[in-house]
Amino acid sequence: MSVHPMSDLLPIRQWGLPIERFFLCAGPCSAESPEQLLAAAEGLQGCPLTLFRAGIWKPRTHPGSFEGHGIKALSWLRRVKEETGFPVGVEVAEPAHVQACLKHGIDVMWIGARTTPNPFAVQALADNLRGTDRPVLVKNPVSPDLGLWIGAVERLYNAGLRKIGVIHRGFAVAETELYRNPPLWRIPIELKRRFPVIPIICDPSHMCGRADMIFPVAQEALDLLYDGLMVEVHHDPAKALSDARQQLTPEQFKGMLDRLKVTTETSPNQRYQTRMEQLRHEIDHVDERIIDLLRKRMDIVQAMGECKRRNQVSTLQPERWREVMATRLAKGVHKGFSLEFLSQLYEVIHEEAIRWQERPLFRGDE
Ligand code: PEP
Ligand code: MN
Repeated sequence: MSVHPMSDLLPIRQWGLPIERFFLCAGPCSAESPEQLLAAAEGLQGCPLTLFRAGIWKPRTHPGSFEGHGIKALSWLRRVKEETGFPVGVEVAEPAHVQACLKHGIDVMWIGARTTPNPFAVQALADNLRGTDRPVLVKNPVSPDLGLWIGAVERLYNAGLRKIGVIHRGFAVAETELYRNPPLWRIPIELKRRFPVIPIICDPSHMCGRADMIFPVAQEALDLLYDGLMVEVHHDPAKALSDARQQLTPEQFKGMLDRLKVTTETSPNQRYQTRMEQLRHEIDHVDERIIDLLRKRMDIVQAMGECKRRNQVSTLQPERWREVMATRLAKGVHKGFSLEFLSQLYEVIHEEAIRWQERPLFRGDE
C-alpha cells in the first residue's frame, strides 16, 4: 500500500457546513415516508445539526427486508432541507446514486460499511465524484481491515476530492457480547496516527445496536478527540422499518446532547499540567519495568527451548499452556481485567515465546 499522507485534505470546519461544538449528524436509519422524515426533522429542530441523515438505498443482509424508497425519497429530503435549513446526507453505493444525489442537491454522501470493502465499487463512486467538491464520508468496512478503509479514502483522494472524512461504525467480529459491532478503537486510532488530518466521525448507533448504550459510547468517542457524531434518530423508533432497537427519539437525542462533554487535547491549568507530568513519569517507569520483565520471561523461555531441543521435546506443550492460560486469566480477572484482554495479551505473549524458542537466530534483538 502506498502511504499517502493526504495532508492537504480540508479540515472539517472548512467544508462549508454548520458546525458548532462538533460535526453533528442525526436522522433516521431510513427514509420511510415524507411524513416520517418531516416528523424526525421537526423533532430535531433547535439542535445544532451539521447534517440530517436518512438512508434511501439500504444494503440489507437478506433480500426482502426494507431496501429503501430510492430516488423518489431524494425530493422528500429536499423538502426537509427547505423546511428546516438542515443540510442533508445519504448513503451511496453505485454511480447512479451519486448522479442522483448531485442532481438533487444532496449536501453530503457517505459510503456504507458494505461498499467500502469493494475496491471496484469505491473506484466507480470516486470516478463519478471526480470534479465535484461535495464532502464524502467513508464508513469503515464491516470487517476489521484498516487497509481497505484507507484504500477507499485514497481512491476518493486520487479522484481530486479534498473534503473527505471517515465514519467509525464498529466491526463485525465473531464474539460480541455487548455491542452489535464492537468499536475496536485501536483501528481508528491507528488510522488517525497515520493520517492525522482525516476527520473521524463516530456512529455509536451501529456500534451499539441498542438505544440505551448510545450516550456512553458517544462520550467515549469525544474523549478520544473524534470530530463528531452520526446518530440514528426516529420520531417513533419502535415503528422504524430498519434498525428499530438502536434509534433514539428526538427527545432522547436532545437529552444526550445536553449531557455530552467536549474534551480538548490539553488544558492550560497549571495544576493539571503538573499532575499529568507526575503521572506520566510513573507510567514511563512502569512501562520500563514491563519491558524488562517481558525480556526476563523470554530469557527463561529460551532456556526452556534449548532444554526441550536437547531432549527432543516439542516446543508446544498444550497441557502446560492450558494451565498457564487458566491460572493467569483467573488471577487477572481477580485484579479487575476483562477475560478478553487477558486472553489476547497471553496469546500474543505465547506466540512471541514460541518464536523465541523456535528461531533464536531470527529474534533480531541484537
Ligand atoms: C446506515 O448508516 O444506516 C447503515 C446502513 O450503516 P452501515 O453502513 O454502517 O451498516
Ligand atoms: Mn441503520
